[in-house]
Amino acid sequence: MTGTQESEYDAIVIGSGITGGWAAKELTEKGLRTLMIERGREVVHGKDYTMEHKSTWEMPLRNARLSPDKQGAEDYQVQARTGQFRESTKQFFTKDTKHPYEEVKPFTWVQGDQVGGKSLIWGRQVYRWSDLDFEANAKEGIGVDWPIRYKDIAPWYSYVERHVGVSGEKLGLPQLPDGEFLPPMQMNAGEKHVKAGIERRFKERRVTIGRVAILTANHKGRAACHYCGPCERGCSTGSYFSTQASTLPPAMATGRLTVLPDSIVHSIVYDPKSHRVAGVRVVDTRTKATREYKAKVVFLCASTLGSARILLNSKSSTFPNGLANSSGVVGHYLMDHHFRAGATGRIEGLADHYYQGNRPNGIYIPRFRNLGDVATKQPFARGFGYQGSAARAGWGRGTSGPGLGVQLKRKLHDAGDWTMGITGFGECLPREDNKVTLSERTDEFGIPILRIDCSWGPNEMAMRKDMRQSAIDMLEAAGLKSVVGTDDYKEGGLGAEPGLGIHEMGTARMGRDPKTSAVNGFCQAHDVPNLFVTDGSVMASASCVNPLRGGPTQEEEHLMDRRDFLKVSGAAGLATMWGSSLACAHSTAAAGAANPALIPGGFTLAQVGLQLYTVRDAMSKDVDGTLASVAGAGYHLVETAGLYQRPAADLRALFDKHGIRTVSGHYPLVDLEASPETVFTTAKTLGQEYVVVPFLDPSLRTAETFGSLPSRLNKLGEAAHGAGLKLAYHNHDFEFQKYGGTTTVMERLLANTDPTLVSFELDGYWAFKAGTAPADLVARYPGRFALLHLKDSTAAPEKAFADVGHGVIDFRRFIAAAQRNGLKYAFVERDVAPDPIASIKASHDYLASVLPA
Ligand SMILES: Cc1cc2nc3c(=O)[nH]c(=O)nc-3n(C[C@H](O)[C@H](O)[C@H](O)COP(=O)(O)OP(=O)(O)OC[C@H]3O[C@@H](n4cnc5c(N)ncnc54)[C@H](O)[C@@H]3O)c2cc1C
Ligand code: SF4
Repeated sequence: MTGTQESEYDAIVIGSGITGGWAAKELTEKGLRTLMIERGREVVHGKDYTMEHKSTWEMPLRNARLSPDKQGAEDYQVQARTGQFRESTKQFFTKDTKHPYEEVKPFTWVQGDQVGGKSLIWGRQVYRWSDLDFEANAKEGIGVDWPIRYKDIAPWYSYVERHVGVSGEKLGLPQLPDGEFLPPMQMNAGEKHVKAGIERRFKERRVTIGRVAILTANHKGRAACHYCGPCERGCSTGSYFSTQASTLPPAMATGRLTVLPDSIVHSIVYDPKSHRVAGVRVVDTRTKATREYKAKVVFLCASTLGSARILLNSKSSTFPNGLANSSGVVGHYLMDHHFRAGATGRIEGLADHYYQGNRPNGIYIPRFRNLGDVATKQPFARGFGYQGSAARAGWGRGTSGPGLGVQLKRKLHDAGDWTMGITGFGECLPREDNKVTLSERTDEFGIPILRIDCSWGPNEMAMRKDMRQSAIDMLEAAGLKSVVGTDDYKEGGLGAEPGLGIHEMGTARMGRDPKTSAVNGFCQAHDVPNLFVTDGSVMASASCVNPLRGGPTQEEEHLMDRRDFLKVSGAAGLATMWGSSLACAHSTAAAGAANPALIPGGFTLAQVGLQLYTVRDAMSKDVDGTLASVAGAGYHLVETAGLYQRPAADLRALFDKHGIRTVSGHYPLVDLEASPETVFTTAKTLGQEYVVVPFLDPSLRTAETFGSLPSRLNKLGEAAHGAGLKLAYHNHDFEFQKYGGTTTVMERLLANTDPTLVSFELDGYWAFKAGTAPADLVARYPGRFALLHLKDSTAAPEKAFADVGHGVIDFRRFIAAAQRNGLKYAFVERDVAPDPIASIKASHDYLASVLPA
């Protein structure tokens, strides 16, 4: 499976589970040479499913549950707490003795460390999230707002479903959007009976067959499920989604993937000079030798807890609290789904109905609480859905009790009662005090182990009461007998403790603000542009369903602009219990790798600078310190706006000190006209190519001024030319008005100035604010816009300032159009910013992700 192990790749993916598999597929299919590093052993599809069709009598413990106190279970004290752990499946669970952690309060960390991760043993239930989920934090003031909404992620759901094959029934419910489904599996007689009873009594509740990543028809070279039995032993026909069956084959087919098993990532290496991650430090789990691998972009897909551990352990002088953790949120806001509260009951009247065989699925009852109307409102926040199934007791029940002869034979021959059980899966709220930190203890590889401190809060406890009571009400409404409510939660004990839901999320949450979140809406670390976290750790809330996602189709890729693409792909990565991102592939743009998602045409990040007006207050107080911050934010090119009461030569010396070059400066029209030589001398002392007329005072904005302005600019342009410089004019929004003319001032300036003497610096924000698409304007006037100002706009009616890439302006299109039409330099500017240094950094990070270095 592995290729040649080189030390340098375009991309590194850490983890080979559901999210790592997706990242590898998308990255390699986009042309990137990718190294996938997995701490567990290699598992070859088919060949290594050694328990797949083993009969019970072939197993020494007859496929026992291996409860923690049973023989052979000493290595699996934690894993054995989950129902799926048995003698036949333990090969895909991790030995707790090999991967220990500390529980401050009971927390069950189920781990599946091998190539394929937990994709080999997962339950395969997959549901789309809705805006009920994405909007909840913002509406309720809990946690941070998701930077994405359902419309952003919907195309990715479709993309994943088409690749994976998901069977299910369409319901048309807003809280559980329908997907692109293969035919649904069938409910059995007991489930149909209960469905009819519940839907008759509760009009707003629905009972449907589970939506599962299991094929009900042959699909993309994989065979339809033949309902053979327990899937957690591996499926050699590839009928359920796993890394091995679905994402690894296309990634391997590209010839660009190298899989490195038995290799644990110790930490990610950060390069303070480039402000990027350079690669990873790895320990060979067999020899304990360490080695470093380099890449232009790193995707962290080690699962919520594994990824948090790596980030926290990747400390440097820049990030003493862990990589990409300037916000301090990494490790916090750990979530899981709480479950095991519901009810069971006996179904009467179906004695003549029988069923045979296994069906790897159950029923699902979608959320019906707190849907936004008064009727469904509850005293707790959020909601829950139910999973469950009906079954008829078979001959096995006769073997557990005493019996002899005819009586025993009859007992084994007759079918037993039908019973039905349902258990809620409830949403858990994000809380800062539910957290993981690094312990002082280390594992055998010298890596600090995790210390997990997590508990259910009052909201979860209130919800559980309703989960139990509503289950009783529904089963009774369906006419079941001997209905018993269940709740396995025990304070301070095991039964329904956090972690047992095995849907951990939230330790590197996504958000808009770098101060309160670790990654942006593209799953890209706010602090480090070439680091992407695309597993469940980026979830800002938990929903009550398991999400899925994936990468884009070529058509979608071309249809979407870069921002949407990244946003959606990030969203994809983000949500994921499974299916990862692709933010991925495209964010490799950040690496400058050959990548179709880069803005085409050759304009590079090195041509992007900062208009120092953005940091004017700081510059007026401390030029030296501010320039250090500007360089620290990634800018080595600037456009000046004043000299801060210093001689030009002194300012230039400071620029030199910080490795900054200035190529353009803003000089008031009045100064230029009064003493052009003085301005030109200043510009040349600073080393500038362009002198730019920045702004016309409102008192000057008259029909008369605009009538004479073109010829005045031509004259100044000629003078600049003579001095070995170039003249440009920078716009605001007022130039898009007519001021007595038949066309706008901008059009008249463009028409009546000499292209060989006067250039323009197009401020895309002001054009956008005035109702003109900046990309259209540069395309209409090729060769006229040598310079750009880049700042974004919010979607709000007042069109407020926003950091580049964080608003609604289509920069991909704007920059692409400008560079086709003569663009030389572009300057980030934000006229008003609450925190100018954070703002310029956020803009730079975005541009670093869409432009080659
Ligand atoms: C029994 C069970 C039932 C489940 N049922 C469902 C379900 O029905 N629906 C659903 O949506 N989800 C379900 N889940 C959860 C789902 O499996 C996980 O959410 C999903 O696998 C997470 O994907 P991942 O890629 O983030 O992590 P994983 O699949 O766990 O993969 C992470 C990989 O990273 C590797 N890794 C970790 N640390 C390092 C390191 N330092 N260096 C190198 N490699 C490392 C691990 O070995 C592992 O292979 C279930 C899980 C289990 C166990
Ligand atoms: S039941 Fe279906 S999906 Fe599960 S192992 Fe058998 S064939 Fe594969």
